Amino acid sequence: MHPESRIPLTLLGGFLGSGKTTWLRHQLHAGEMAQSLVIVNEAADVPVDDMLLSRSSEIRLLAGGCACCNGKDRLIALLREVCDERVDESFTGAQHTHLVLETSGLADPGPIVDAIRTDAVLMHHILVREIVVVVDALHGIAYLKSEPLGRSQVETADQLIITKADAVDDAALRQLSATLNVINPGAKLSATVMGSEVTLPEAGDADAVQLPAFNSSGSGANPVISTSIRLAGGTDWTAFGLWLSALLHARGDDVVRVKGVIRTPSGRLLLQSVRKIVQSPEILPDSVTARKDENCIVFIGKGFKRRDLQMSLKRFAGLHCEGADVQDQREAT
Ligand SMILES: [Zn+2]
Repeated sequence: MHPESRIPLTLLGGFLGSGKTTWLRHQLHAGEMAQSLVIVNEAADVPVDDMLLSRSSEIRLLAGGCACCNGKDRLIALLREVCDERVDESFTGAQHTHLVLETSGLADPGPIVDAIRTDAVLMHHILVREIVVVVDALHGIAYLKSEPLGRSQVETADQLIITKADAVDDAALRQLSATLNVINPGAKLSATVMGSEVTLPEAGDADAVQLPAFNSSGSGANPVISTSIRLAGGTDWTAFGLWLSALLHARGDDVVRVKGVIRTPSGRLLLQSVRKIVQSPEILPDSVTARKDENCIVFIGKGFKRRDLQMSLKRFAGLHCEGADVQDQREAT
Protein backbone atom coordinates (compact mmCIF):
# COMPACT_ATOMS: atom_id res chain seq x y z
CA MET A 1 0.00 0.00 0.00
CA HIS A 2 1.26 3.50 -0.79
CA PRO A 3 1.78 5.87 2.12
CA GLU A 4 -0.94 8.45 2.59
CA SER A 5 -0.41 11.17 0.00
CA ARG A 6 -3.55 13.23 0.47
CA ILE A 7 -3.20 16.58 2.24
CA PRO A 8 -5.04 16.68 5.58
CA LEU A 9 -7.78 19.25 6.04
CA THR A 10 -9.18 20.50 9.32
CA LEU A 11 -12.61 22.05 9.14
CA LEU A 12 -13.25 24.71 11.75
CA GLY A 13 -16.85 25.52 12.52
CA GLY A 14 -18.92 27.20 15.18
CA PHE A 15 -21.50 29.89 15.35
CA LEU A 16 -20.98 33.59 14.81
CA GLY A 17 -18.82 35.27 17.40
CA SER A 18 -17.88 32.01 19.05
CA GLY A 19 -14.16 32.71 18.83
CA LYS A 20 -13.10 30.56 15.87
CA THR A 21 -10.50 33.02 14.61
CA THR A 22 -8.95 33.58 18.05
CA TRP A 23 -8.62 29.83 18.55
CA LEU A 24 -7.17 29.31 15.08
CA ARG A 25 -4.70 32.17 15.38
CA HIS A 26 -3.40 30.61 18.57
CA GLN A 27 -3.00 27.20 16.92
CA LEU A 28 -1.07 28.75 14.04
CA HIS A 29 1.21 30.68 16.36
CA ALA A 30 1.71 27.80 18.74
CA GLY A 31 2.88 25.75 15.80
CA GLU A 32 0.09 23.21 16.05
CA MET A 33 -0.85 23.85 12.47
CA ALA A 34 2.28 25.44 11.14
CA GLN A 35 2.67 25.57 7.37
CA SER A 36 -1.07 25.62 6.89
CA LEU A 37 -2.98 27.11 4.07
CA VAL A 38 -5.96 28.72 5.75
CA ILE A 39 -9.11 29.26 3.75
CA VAL A 40 -11.48 31.65 5.44
CA ASN A 41 -15.08 31.67 4.35
CA GLU A 42 -17.08 34.77 5.05
CA ALA A 43 -20.66 34.71 3.86
CA ALA A 44 -20.44 38.44 3.32
CA ASP A 45 -17.75 40.23 1.37
CA VAL A 46 -15.58 41.40 4.21
CA PRO A 47 -11.84 41.53 4.19
CA VAL A 48 -9.98 39.44 6.70
CA ASP A 49 -8.34 41.91 8.98
CA ASP A 50 -6.10 41.44 11.93
CA MET A 51 -5.58 37.81 11.07
CA LEU A 52 -1.96 37.53 12.05
CA LEU A 53 -0.72 34.28 10.72
CA SER A 54 2.48 32.51 11.50
CA ARG A 55 5.21 33.10 8.95
CA SER A 56 4.79 29.72 7.34
CA SER A 57 1.05 29.94 6.85
CA GLU A 58 -0.91 31.55 4.11
CA ILE A 59 -4.47 32.74 3.98
CA ARG A 60 -6.99 32.78 1.16
CA LEU A 61 -10.40 34.29 1.32
CA LEU A 62 -13.52 32.61 0.06
CA ALA A 63 -16.00 35.46 -0.03
CA GLY A 64 -19.51 36.11 -1.20
CA GLY A 65 -21.17 32.86 -0.30
CA CYS A 66 -21.39 30.21 2.39
CA ALA A 67 -19.34 27.07 1.78
CA CYS A 68 -22.15 24.76 2.84
CA CYS A 69 -24.74 26.15 0.42
CA ASN A 70 -24.53 29.01 -2.09
CA GLY A 71 -20.73 29.17 -1.96
CA LYS A 72 -20.12 25.43 -2.31
CA ASP A 73 -19.10 25.59 -5.97
CA ARG A 74 -16.59 28.31 -5.23
CA LEU A 75 -15.12 26.30 -2.39
CA ILE A 76 -14.68 23.25 -4.63
CA ALA A 77 -13.09 25.40 -7.34
CA LEU A 78 -10.67 26.97 -4.85
CA LEU A 79 -9.71 23.60 -3.38
CA ARG A 80 -9.15 22.16 -6.87
CA GLU A 81 -6.84 25.08 -7.56
CA VAL A 82 -4.88 24.30 -4.39
CA CYS A 83 -4.65 20.64 -5.42
CA ASP A 84 -3.40 21.61 -8.88
CA GLU A 85 -0.66 23.68 -7.30
CA ARG A 86 0.44 20.73 -5.21
CA VAL A 87 1.10 18.54 -8.22
CA ASP A 88 2.32 21.30 -10.56
CA GLU A 89 6.09 21.13 -10.65
CA SER A 90 6.39 24.61 -12.10
CA PHE A 91 4.42 26.13 -9.21
CA THR A 92 6.74 28.39 -7.26
CA GLY A 93 4.49 29.43 -4.38
CA ALA A 94 4.65 27.97 -0.89
CA GLN A 95 3.81 24.31 -0.43
CA HIS A 96 1.68 23.56 2.59
CA THR A 97 1.40 20.48 4.70
CA HIS A 98 -2.07 21.13 6.05
CA LEU A 99 -5.30 22.83 4.99
CA VAL A 100 -7.59 24.63 7.39
CA LEU A 101 -11.04 25.73 6.34
CA GLU A 102 -12.57 28.27 8.67
CA THR A 103 -16.27 28.26 7.88
CA SER A 104 -18.70 31.08 8.38
CA GLY A 105 -20.83 31.00 11.51
CA LEU A 106 -23.83 30.06 9.42
CA ALA A 107 -22.31 26.97 7.88
CA ASP A 108 -23.23 23.38 8.59
CA PRO A 109 -20.00 21.33 8.43
CA GLY A 110 -21.77 18.16 7.22
CA PRO A 111 -22.56 19.24 3.64
CA ILE A 112 -19.09 20.80 3.24
CA VAL A 113 -17.35 17.59 4.24
CA ASP A 114 -19.69 15.61 1.98
CA ALA A 115 -18.89 17.87 -0.95
CA ILE A 116 -15.13 17.45 -0.48
CA ARG A 117 -15.31 13.72 0.09
CA THR A 118 -17.46 13.07 -2.97
CA ASP A 119 -15.79 15.42 -5.45
CA ALA A 120 -14.18 13.31 -8.17
CA VAL A 121 -10.92 15.30 -8.02
CA LEU A 122 -10.70 16.34 -4.39
CA MET A 123 -11.29 12.84 -3.01
CA HIS A 124 -7.87 11.83 -4.35
CA HIS A 125 -6.04 14.85 -2.96
CA ILE A 126 -7.68 15.93 0.28
CA LEU A 127 -8.24 13.98 3.44
CA VAL A 128 -10.74 15.53 5.80
CA ARG A 129 -8.97 14.76 9.04
CA GLU A 130 -10.99 16.52 11.67
CA ILE A 131 -14.02 18.70 12.25
CA VAL A 132 -13.37 21.13 15.09
CA VAL A 133 -16.33 23.11 16.37
CA VAL A 134 -16.01 25.94 18.87
CA VAL A 135 -18.80 26.78 21.28
CA ASP A 136 -18.66 29.91 23.34
CA ALA A 137 -19.20 29.44 27.06
CA LEU A 138 -21.34 32.54 27.39
CA HIS A 139 -23.92 31.98 24.66
CA GLY A 140 -23.54 28.28 23.87
CA ILE A 141 -26.57 27.01 25.77
CA ALA A 142 -28.91 29.70 24.44
CA TYR A 143 -27.76 29.02 20.90
CA LEU A 144 -28.15 25.26 21.19
CA LYS A 145 -31.65 25.77 22.57
CA SER A 146 -32.81 28.01 19.77
CA GLU A 147 -30.83 27.08 16.67
CA PRO A 148 -31.05 23.74 14.86
CA LEU A 149 -27.89 24.78 12.99
CA GLY A 150 -25.95 25.09 16.25
CA ARG A 151 -26.92 21.59 17.18
CA SER A 152 -26.01 20.31 13.73
CA GLN A 153 -22.56 21.86 14.06
CA VAL A 154 -22.00 20.20 17.43
CA GLU A 155 -23.33 16.82 16.23
CA THR A 156 -20.82 16.53 13.41
CA ALA A 157 -17.72 17.56 15.39
CA ASP A 158 -14.77 15.32 16.20
CA GLN A 159 -13.50 17.89 18.63
CA LEU A 160 -15.48 20.49 20.59
CA ILE A 161 -13.70 23.51 22.03
CA ILE A 162 -15.42 25.63 24.64
CA THR A 163 -14.10 29.16 24.17
CA LYS A 164 -14.20 32.10 26.61
CA ALA A 165 -14.19 29.60 29.47
CA ASP A 166 -13.30 32.40 31.92
CA ALA A 167 -16.53 34.25 31.13
CA VAL A 168 -18.72 31.93 33.20
CA ASP A 169 -18.45 30.09 36.52
CA ASP A 170 -17.61 26.42 36.98
CA ALA A 171 -21.24 25.39 37.39
CA ALA A 172 -22.12 26.88 34.00
CA LEU A 173 -19.08 25.23 32.39
CA ARG A 174 -20.09 21.86 33.83
CA GLN A 175 -23.61 22.29 32.54
CA LEU A 176 -22.42 23.22 29.05
CA SER A 177 -20.03 20.24 29.01
CA ALA A 178 -22.82 17.89 30.07
CA THR A 179 -25.13 19.31 27.41
CA LEU A 180 -22.52 18.99 24.65
CA ASN A 181 -21.89 15.44 25.79
CA VAL A 182 -25.56 14.59 25.31
CA ILE A 183 -25.61 16.02 21.78
CA ASN A 184 -22.32 14.46 20.74
CA PRO A 185 -21.02 11.88 23.19
CA GLY A 186 -18.18 10.91 20.88
CA ALA A 187 -16.40 14.23 20.55
CA LYS A 188 -13.25 15.17 22.39
CA LEU A 189 -14.06 18.12 24.64
CA SER A 190 -11.73 20.85 25.89
CA ALA A 191 -11.88 24.48 27.01
CA THR A 192 -9.84 27.54 26.14
CA VAL A 193 -9.31 31.17 27.10
CA MET A 194 -7.94 33.37 24.29
CA GLY A 195 -6.92 30.24 22.42
CA SER A 196 -4.94 28.66 25.26
CA GLU A 197 -6.24 25.47 26.74
CA VAL A 198 -7.51 25.56 30.31
CA THR A 199 -8.69 22.73 32.52
CA LEU A 200 -12.37 21.92 32.41
CA PRO A 201 -13.92 21.37 35.85
CA GLU A 202 -14.86 17.76 36.58
CA ALA A 203 -18.31 17.09 35.17
CA GLY A 204 -19.50 15.62 38.47
CA ASP A 205 -23.27 15.27 38.53
CA ALA A 206 -23.99 18.33 36.39
CA ASP A 207 -27.26 17.99 34.53
CA ALA A 208 -27.46 18.66 30.83
CA VAL A 209 -29.87 21.37 29.79
CA GLN A 210 -33.10 20.02 28.37
CA LEU A 211 -33.10 20.89 24.69
CA PRO A 212 -36.26 21.29 22.63
CA ALA A 213 -36.83 18.86 19.78
CA PHE A 214 -36.42 20.34 16.31
CA ASN A 215 -38.26 18.86 13.38
CA SER A 216 -35.27 18.82 11.11
CA SER A 217 -32.53 18.25 13.64
CA GLY A 218 -31.11 15.05 14.96
CA SER A 219 -31.87 15.74 18.58
CA GLY A 220 -35.46 14.68 18.89
CA ALA A 221 -37.09 12.16 21.16
CA ASN A 222 -34.27 9.65 20.82
CA PRO A 223 -31.11 10.60 22.64
CA VAL A 224 -27.86 10.56 20.72
CA ILE A 225 -25.68 7.69 21.85
CA SER A 226 -22.14 6.59 21.27
CA THR A 227 -21.57 2.88 21.02
CA SER A 228 -18.88 0.67 19.59
CA ILE A 229 -18.47 -2.77 18.15
CA ARG A 230 -15.26 -4.74 17.96
CA LEU A 231 -14.92 -6.86 14.88
CA ALA A 232 -13.42 -10.29 15.11
CA GLY A 233 -9.96 -10.90 13.67
CA GLY A 234 -9.87 -11.88 10.01
CA THR A 235 -12.94 -9.79 9.18
CA ASP A 236 -13.77 -9.49 5.49
CA TRP A 237 -13.36 -5.72 5.12
CA THR A 238 -14.94 -5.61 1.70
CA ALA A 239 -18.10 -7.14 3.12
CA PHE A 240 -17.93 -4.73 6.04
CA GLY A 241 -17.54 -1.75 3.68
CA LEU A 242 -20.58 -2.80 1.68
CA TRP A 243 -22.59 -3.25 4.83
CA LEU A 244 -21.55 0.18 6.14
CA SER A 245 -22.45 1.90 2.86
CA ALA A 246 -25.85 0.24 2.86
CA LEU A 247 -26.40 1.17 6.50
CA LEU A 248 -25.55 4.82 5.91
CA HIS A 249 -27.60 4.93 2.75
CA ALA A 250 -30.63 3.77 4.68
CA ARG A 251 -29.96 5.33 8.08
CA GLY A 252 -27.52 8.16 7.44
CA ASP A 253 -29.74 10.67 9.16
CA ASP A 254 -29.61 8.64 12.36
CA VAL A 255 -26.04 7.38 12.20
CA VAL A 256 -24.28 10.72 12.38
CA ARG A 257 -20.67 9.58 12.72
CA VAL A 258 -18.71 6.38 12.27
CA LYS A 259 -15.04 6.19 13.18
CA GLY A 260 -12.51 3.47 13.78
CA VAL A 261 -9.07 2.09 13.07
CA ILE A 262 -9.02 -1.23 11.27
CA ARG A 263 -6.16 -3.56 10.52
CA THR A 264 -6.40 -4.98 7.03
CA PRO A 265 -3.93 -7.31 5.32
CA SER A 266 -2.52 -4.27 3.52
CA GLY A 267 -2.10 -2.00 6.55
CA ARG A 268 -3.83 0.08 9.20
CA LEU A 269 -6.67 2.28 8.03
CA LEU A 270 -8.64 5.05 9.68
CA LEU A 271 -12.26 4.77 8.68
CA GLN A 272 -14.53 7.81 9.00
CA SER A 273 -17.97 8.89 7.94
CA VAL A 274 -20.15 11.90 8.51
CA ARG A 275 -23.80 11.21 7.89
CA LYS A 276 -24.17 9.38 4.57
CA ILE A 277 -20.66 9.70 3.22
CA VAL A 278 -17.79 7.37 4.01
CA GLN A 279 -14.40 8.86 3.24
CA SER A 280 -11.95 6.63 1.47
CA PRO A 281 -9.94 5.42 4.50
CA GLU A 282 -6.78 7.20 5.64
CA ILE A 283 -3.68 5.03 5.59
CA LEU A 284 -2.00 5.16 8.98
CA PRO A 285 1.66 4.55 9.71
CA ASP A 286 2.07 0.91 10.52
CA SER A 287 2.85 -0.04 14.07
CA VAL A 288 4.30 -3.43 14.73
CA THR A 289 2.33 -4.11 17.86
CA ALA A 290 -1.42 -4.31 17.59
CA ARG A 291 -3.07 -1.46 19.43
CA LYS A 292 -6.07 -1.98 21.59
CA ASP A 293 -8.31 0.37 19.64
CA GLU A 294 -7.86 -1.59 16.45
CA ASN A 295 -10.94 -3.07 14.77
CA CYS A 296 -13.15 -1.18 17.20
CA ILE A 297 -15.67 0.93 15.30
CA VAL A 298 -17.50 3.74 17.08
CA PHE A 299 -21.03 4.68 15.98
CA ILE A 300 -22.66 7.93 17.07
CA GLY A 301 -26.28 8.61 16.43
CA LYS A 302 -29.77 7.84 17.61
CA GLY A 303 -32.47 5.24 17.30
CA PHE A 304 -30.18 2.18 17.44
CA LYS A 305 -28.26 0.14 19.96
CA ARG A 306 -25.04 -1.79 19.80
CA ARG A 307 -27.04 -4.97 19.56
CA ASP A 308 -28.91 -3.73 16.43
CA LEU A 309 -25.59 -3.11 14.71
CA GLN A 310 -24.22 -6.51 15.68
CA MET A 311 -27.35 -8.30 14.51
CA SER A 312 -27.45 -6.38 11.24
CA LEU A 313 -23.78 -7.17 10.57
CA LYS A 314 -24.38 -10.84 11.23
CA ARG A 315 -27.55 -11.03 9.20
CA PHE A 316 -26.60 -8.96 6.16
CA ALA A 317 -22.85 -9.37 5.94
CA GLY A 318 -22.26 -12.63 7.80
CA LEU A 319 -19.75 -10.86 10.08
CA HIS A 320 -19.27 -11.44 13.76
CA CYS A 321 -18.31 -9.07 16.56
CA GLU A 322 -16.13 -9.96 19.50
CA GLY A 323 -18.07 -10.44 22.71
CA ALA A 324 -21.42 -9.99 20.96
CA ASP A 325 -23.09 -12.76 22.92
CA VAL A 326 -21.97 -11.40 26.27
CA GLN A 327 -23.21 -7.91 25.38
CA ASP A 328 -26.49 -9.28 24.13
CA GLN A 329 -27.17 -10.71 27.57
CA ARG A 330 -26.11 -7.54 29.34
CA GLU A 331 -28.13 -5.20 27.15
CA ALA A 332 -31.17 -7.39 27.26
CA THR A 333 -31.47 -6.92 31.01
ZN1 LIG B 1 -24.29 27.55 4.10
